[in-house]
Amino acid sequence: MRAIPTDEILDSHFRTRALPHIWCPGCSHGIVTRALAQALAQGGADKDRTVLVSGIGCSSRATGYLDFYTVHTTHGRALAVATGLKLARPELSVVVISGDGDTGAIGTSHLVHAARRNIDLTLVCYVNGTYGMTGGQGAPTTPCGDITSTSPFGHLERPLDLCALAQAAGASFVARATAWHFDLLVRLIARGIEKKGFAMVEAVSSCPVYAGRLNEQDTPAQMLFAMRDHAVADPGAPLGPGQFRIGALWDVEAPEYADTYRQHATGRTER
Ligand code: SF4
Repeated sequence: MRAIPTDEILDSHFRTRALPHIWCPGCSHGIVTRALAQALAQGGADKDRTVLVSGIGCSSRATGYLDFYTVHTTHGRALAVATGLKLARPELSVVVISGDGDTGAIGTSHLVHAARRNIDLTLVCYVNGTYGMTGGQGAPTTPCGDITSTSPFGHLERPLDLCALAQAAGASFVARATAWHFDLLVRLIARGIEKKGFAMVEAVSSCPVYAGRLNEQDTPAQMLFAMRDHAVADPGAPLGPGQFRIGALWDVEAPEYADTYRQHATGRTER
């Protein structure tokens, strides 16, 4: 696939009238959003047949900047809205943009059931381990021991592995990359969009303003280097403390729900 220059992507896939964006300087949500735009562009996404749906949170602001049909929904409900959209208009390509707080806390049940149904949606989940928009509270993905605004002496809970959850619930495609691994992230999002069935791509991102400042990662660059250093691409390598796997983690074929639903409804009509 051709790497598309930034100027070209900006003109063709962003609402430049909505820029500059609201993300803090150094936040890597912009890198992830750029990767999503690149994956859509390289895959030849038809703007008239592609809908982006987001929830609430810093990452979910991306739907304001990307020049497609977009829906900015309520907290945790992006997958529920996207499910209704896909059932009503199965010919559309539906991409969901959501953060880890949105997907892994208030919206967890929607993740489980969208994956269980294997409905043809692509979820790009921005994971930065905090609630950035509301002040750096601990999230379901916050690493154990991290300082947050709600755990000033260290977070006690173990983090939720959203990829493992999506796989266990029945997703067809599960993958993870980071803002540091830009090219890999583009490729995985593109594969997720192509995949028939529920696809989730976890995009490890950063919040330098809260998670970084509170945990002595003083610069945005340090947070990107930490992603690089903790990511493990070899599927057979053991994981050390704080490490996580990147790449395509799960890729299977399974019946897709919107097709199954339509076939069933058509059969009933014909009887
Ligand atoms: Fe990014 Fe954190 Fe700022 Fe939100 S609060 S835009 S996640 S740096």
